[in-house]
Amino acid sequence: MKSLLQTIQSSEEGHVAVGHFNIANLEMLKAITEISAELELSVIIGVSEGEREYVGVRQSVDLIKSYNEEYADRDGVRFFLNADHTHSLEKVEEAARAGFDAVLFDGGKLPFDENIFQTKRAVEIAKSANPDVLVEGELGYIGGSSKLLDEIPEGAEIKDDDLTTPEEAAQFIKETGVDMLAPAVGNLHGMFKNAPNPRLNIQRIRDIKKAVLMPLVLHGGSGIADEDFQEGIKAGISIVHISTEIRRAWREGFDKALGENKEEIAPYKLTPAALGAIKGVVRNRLKLFNNLL
Ligand SMILES: [Zn+2]
Repeated sequence: MKSLLQTIQSSEEGHVAVGHFNIANLEMLKAITEISAELELSVIIGVSEGEREYVGVRQSVDLIKSYNEEYADRDGVRFFLNADHTHSLEKVEEAARAGFDAVLFDGGKLPFDENIFQTKRAVEIAKSANPDVLVEGELGYIGGSSKLLDEIPEGAEIKDDDLTTPEEAAQFIKETGVDMLAPAVGNLHGMFKNAPNPRLNIQRIRDIKKAVLMPLVLHGGSGIADEDFQEGIKAGISIVHISTEIRRAWREGFDKALGENKEEIAPYKLTPAALGAIKGVVRNRLKLFNNLL
């Protein structure tokens, strides 16, 4: 079976991207794994600090292991586990030890030098806990949480000055030793309720890719225009994160089921609508990232 790094590399060769989907419960995990198997595409399952506090660190690892055993031989797909947005070195170590395939140390809000210092420590700690774990660094601030937004959060309007520069990116990866980089290229966590998200700066993605020659990760994929995804992947994005769209699908599916079945109390009779809505999101996004539309 291919490792995560090999999976990313073969996506790069095919000019496509690996989908990264966040989970907080079983509906999300079931929907993502089923669509991944249906399309025969390996995916990354992400759990942020908040999500793994709920699902459990060890439990996340065991769940993914179990789904891998279920699907890997039959469908040739693999599910990889990423400790998304990890803010402390203790939690980096915890995830690496527990058997995560990747860890994102999120120093995006820190001043540049402090981000380098802390991320370098995160790489050392993660690799000493598990030499095979991939470490991602974040450079440039791309907003806070995966939620529905009315407008760009105050003080978070995206200006060209806020985007990661190729020079900073090159220095950052050289000094920290990260395996993957999450740059700020016009993307933002969360998605707008009634409007598309801001446009990506495709030229900046191309310039950063040229400067670092390593996998680039696009966070805050929810709400980005299809065309921007396609151009962004061509320009050098290797992994795309989708979270808010899944959360919204879960909520809308559940609301519908609860509204239509007021007396029903069996959870598994209420979850199919949420599962179906999440599957729709994952199928569309994976097809788009893999030129299958
Ligand atoms: Zn993110």
